[in-house]
Amino acid sequence: MTGPTRKHPFLEILHERCISCAACIAVCEPESLVLHDLTLAFSSETCTSCVECFRVCPTAAVVPIKGRYYRGIG
Ligand code: SF4
Ligand code: SF4
Repeated sequence: MTGPTRKHPFLEILHERCISCAACIAVCEPESLVLHDLTLAFSSETCTSCVECFRVCPTAAVVPIKGRYYRGIG
């Protein structure tokens, strides 16, 4: 297993916003998200870039790096 990372090709985890609710993990079909000691990370090898994790995050802790898929979270 390769090491999980904070960065994804177009999504980033902002750990200061993450409340470790695991909603993103629940919707991630390829199981590309993992929680290690309540810290979320991507395992980008299996990610299909479906952006479901971004859609369901209640605190906008998964955000687009370059403004793609922005849904107007204030
Ligand atoms: S973009 Fe989709 S496949 Fe990738 S980590 Fe998020 S929910 Fe999982
Ligand atoms: S849905 Fe958002 S707040 Fe919940 S674990 Fe995932 S990144 Fe953190």
